[in-house]
Amino acid sequence: ADVRSLLTGLIHDVPDYPKPGVMFKDITPLLADAKAFSVLTDVLAGLAQRHGATKIVGLEARGFILGAPAAVRAGVGFVPVRKSGKLPGATLSQGYDLEYGSARIEVHSAGLAEGDRVLVIDDVLATGGTAEASVQLIRRTGAEVAGVAILLELGFLEGRERVERALAGAPLDAL
Ligand code: 5GP
Repeated sequence: ADVRSLLTGLIHDVPDYPKPGVMFKDITPLLADAKAFSVLTDVLAGLAQRHGATKIVGLEARGFILGAPAAVRAGVGFVPVRKSGKLPGATLSQGYDLEYGSARIEVHSAGLAEGDRVLVIDDVLATGGTAEASVQLIRRTGAEVAGVAILLELGFLEGRERVERALAGAPLDAL
């Protein structure tokens, strides 16, 4: 409960960003707080260990910021899932629908393999579309998804249901 209030107090509401009517959750105050960022890193690294992860996947872009230090602390490798066209090597790619339009994410085919157990990390879960597509993408590399860990879940959206369906029994932890 202490960790929860420490973290929650450092996530700020920004109204009408990036467009009118949207309440954006800004995690940069948390990142700027050495104690809170370290505690968050510990919690994420602990989840990676508890779920037996061999790799952490961070989702562009804030999932990189949270996932990379957690990977170092857990003693596992870090693999980025990026928006389309950013990775130099051979990739697998997965499309998904947005509220308006669609998006595509990619991972290096060589980054993950059968035998890997992956913890997926991102900052915010909204519709769940990004996390769902990531789970599907990671599975196509032959790796197993050990779980998804999210800093903040926007509970008024149906994101959890969507991601849990994709996870088929693996845990979705929202801090
Ligand atoms: P979803 O695919 O679940 O609808 O959206 C989640 C993705 O959008 C995440 O990668 C997350 O970083 C970003 N996102 C959506 N809303 C917010 C928000 O209010 N704050 C932050 N920091 N990221 C958001």
